[in-house]
Amino acid sequence: MHHFHYVNGELYCEDVPVALIAEKAGTPFYLYSHATLSHHYRIFDAAFAGFPHLVCFAVKANSNLAILRTLIALGAGVDIVSGGELYRSLQAGVDPMKVVYSGVGKNEAEIRQALRAGILMFNIESSQELAEISRLAGRLRTTARIALRINPDIDPQTHPYISTGLKKNKFGIDIERALQDYRRARELPHLDVVGAACHIGSQITELRPFLEAVGRLKSLIRELAKEGIAIRFLDLGGGLGITYDRETPPHPQEYGQALVKELQGLDVTLILEPGRVLVGNAGILVTRVHYTKDTEAKHFIIVDAGMNDLARPSLYGSYHALHPVVERPRPEVEASLVGPICESGDFLAKDRLMPAFTPGELVAVMSAGAYGFSMSSNYNSRPRVAEILVKDTEFYVIRKRETYRHLIQGEAIPDFLKEAP
Ligand SMILES: *Cc1c(COP(=O)(O)O)cnc(C)c1O
Repeated sequence: MHHFHYVNGELYCEDVPVALIAEKAGTPFYLYSHATLSHHYRIFDAAFAGFPHLVCFAVKANSNLAILRTLIALGAGVDIVSGGELYRSLQAGVDPMKVVYSGVGKNEAEIRQALRAGILMFNIESSQELAEISRLAGRLRTTARIALRINPDIDPQTHPYISTGLKKNKFGIDIERALQDYRRARELPHLDVVGAACHIGSQITELRPFLEAVGRLKSLIRELAKEGIAIRFLDLGGGLGITYDRETPPHPQEYGQALVKELQGLDVTLILEPGRVLVGNAGILVTRVHYTKDTEAKHFIIVDAGMNDLARPSLYGSYHALHPVVERPRPEVEASLVGPICESGDFLAKDRLMPAFTPGELVAVMSAGAYGFSMSSNYNSRPRVAEILVKDTEFYVIRKRETYRHLIQGEAIPDFLKEAP
């Protein structure tokens, strides 16, 4: 469900014509619908009604302050993976007791920052990290609440780059050694062992892998209880997939009900870390066609957004639907929609049937709200694009387009290079 729709052949975001925004803001830009985002959050949260739970939005999916603020205002917490994400989340007004901190490589400064902020829980990914957090908590004369992130060795049947719960992945602690690490955590000073966590991957379109993970964590929690280690928070991570093309992921309600059913009788607060499912279809990337070009082999449509703006197609071969911002009768062509970047991997769509877009017109690259702007870069010295949020009949620039000044910010030419040749 989303609020991007056609009115008399013109694409609107809520009650604002997309073409009007393009005229005022220039292209390319990311465009988000406040109503869609709010709706997605409410549906997701409601799916767990009746079971104690906390929805912690995965900030890496979209870290814009206004997006974070929208979700936080609705009651969301956050799942962070860096000090920068903690900083953003606090700026957006998150309650530190609704922050969980994941990631395999938390550094000393980041751990201190999170301890000072008083976050809910560190999800720990190795026994060395366990010792480090214990040490730093001691230094700051505080106690760190921790969960161990378990690698349950489950195949989520998704792209290998976004599978995270398999033995061969770098994430989490092997489930076989979890007991041993929990015993160690209990012995270490300045740690309060409160949770068990897992996150098995992203863009998962079936329930089975989630249920398998819950099953394994449930048994672990029972074993821990026998040893007197009481788990109060069960964090099941994120990963629920969305429809980009023809995928048929479970509805959040179905997902919630299935998980809650599996957890009956367990005395824990459930934590969920959804990213993509909340923001993916709440955002699009709007780009303008520069040129079209026919080579002997192919038809290319060259647009002003590139892989630096939306990396997913080149990184994972991901599919994004393409729609004209202004509809008109036209043939479909087999083409590649490519950007201006000097890389052959620079495409938003490759060898696909698509409307025969023509120079000057606007193209909506759909389902770009998650891992879109947040993965963008300045490659080829391209200023990062603007982000715009629509609410009802109004639109708001929530991140200005960067300028050339941003590109060289912080760079310096040392004196020895300044001397005239
Ligand atoms: C990326 C990530 C998420 C969010 O994943 P989605 O597929 O966007 O829901 C949640 N938890 C952790 C630990 C992550 O790394």
